[in-house]
Amino acid sequence: MIDKKNIYSLIIVGAGPAALTASIYASRYNVDHLIVGEAIGGLVFEAHKICNFPTEIEIKGAELVSKMQKHVEFLGNPIIADKIVVIDKENNQFKLTTQSNKKLFATTILLASGTKHRQLNLPNEKEFIGKGLSYCATCDAMFYKDKVVAVIGGSDSAHTASLYLAEIAKKVYQIYRKDKLRGETSWINQVENNDKIEVIYNTEIIEIEGNGKVETIRLNNPYKGKERINIDGLFVEIGTIPQKALIEELSLETNESGYIKVGANQKTNKEKVWAAGDITDGSNNFRQIITACSEGAIAIENIFKFLQNKKSPSLSV
Ligand code: NDP
Repeated sequence: MIDKKNIYSLIIVGAGPAALTASIYASRYNVDHLIVGEAIGGLVFEAHKICNFPTEIEIKGAELVSKMQKHVEFLGNPIIADKIVVIDKENNQFKLTTQSNKKLFATTILLASGTKHRQLNLPNEKEFIGKGLSYCATCDAMFYKDKVVAVIGGSDSAHTASLYLAEIAKKVYQIYRKDKLRGETSWINQVENNDKIEVIYNTEIIEIEGNGKVETIRLNNPYKGKERINIDGLFVEIGTIPQKALIEELSLETNESGYIKVGANQKTNKEKVWAAGDITDGSNNFRQIITACSEGAIAIENIFKFLQNKKSPSLSV
C-alpha cells in the first residue's frame, strides 16, 4: 500500500543550486514537491571564493549555499538529507527508494544530482587520499601552512585552489598539461601575478610517491632538469564528471561525456523526467552556479505546465 503522505507531484533529486532554485520556483508555482539530496549545496559548498554571483561581490560557497537553503526552508520546504538509490515505476508513478529505505512516490522527477570530482586515475592515487592527496582545497588547505603543495589543472577550480593555497602555503606549483591556462581571465591574471604560485606548463603527473603520505610527484616532462618535485600536499582540481548511477537507473540519453541530454525546456528523453544543473549538457555546457539556477527555474516552469496540462489538457507543454 502506498502511504499517501509520501506521494508528490514532483521529487527533486539533489540539493545543489539547481535543485534549491527549482524548489523555490516550485513553491512559487505551488507545485507540491520534495527535495532529497545527500549534500546541501553540492560541490559549491566547497568553493572558497565566488565572485560572479549577482548580489554577492565575494562570498564563500558554504555561505551562498546557506542563503539558498534558508530561502528554500522559508518557503516551507525541508531538504531531506538522503540518497535516492533505486527508481522504478509503480501504478503509473515513479517509486524512489532512498538509502535509508524510505519509499517515495512522484508523478514527475527533476534530476539535479550534479557531478563529482574527476580523479587522475593514477595506479596508486587512491592509497594517498587523505594522506596528502585532496580534491578540495577549501577543506584541506589549512593543513599546509608554510608547506609546499602542487595543484593539478588549468581551469577555474585549479586557479581558485592555487590562489587559496597561496594564502596559506609557502609555495604552490600549479601543473597544467597545456601551454596556456584557461577559464576566467580574472583568476588567470591573479594566478600569473602571484609570487608564491609557479605554473608548470605542458606537464602531466605520472606517479605519486611517498612512504605512507605524499612526498614527491614524478612528471612526464622534467622541470628545471628534474623528473621529481618534492611536495607536502597534492590537490587534484581537474574538473568533474556526472553522477552516473541514476542516469543509468532511468536509462537517460547522454552526450559523449556522460552528461544528460536536455532540450531547451530541460526535458530528458524519458517521459516525466527533467534534469537541471551540472549533470546536463544544457546552458551550452557552461557549468556555473547561475546557469544551474537558471536550468532549475526553466525545468519547474515546464513541469508546472505539464502538471497543469494533466488537469486541463488544453495547455501546451
Ligand atoms: P574544467 O572542466 O573547466 O577544467 C578542468 C581542468 O583540468 C582543465 O584544465 C583540464 O585540462 C584539466 N584536466 C582534465 N582532466 C585532466 C587529467 N586527466 N589530467 C590533467 N589535467 C586534466 O573544470 P573546473 O572544475 O575547473 O571548472 C568547471 C566549471 O566550474 C567551469 O565552468 C568553471 O568556470 C566553474 N568554476 C568556477 C569557479 C569560480 O568562479 N569560483 C571555481 C571553480 C569552477 P584541459 O584544459 O586540457 O582540458
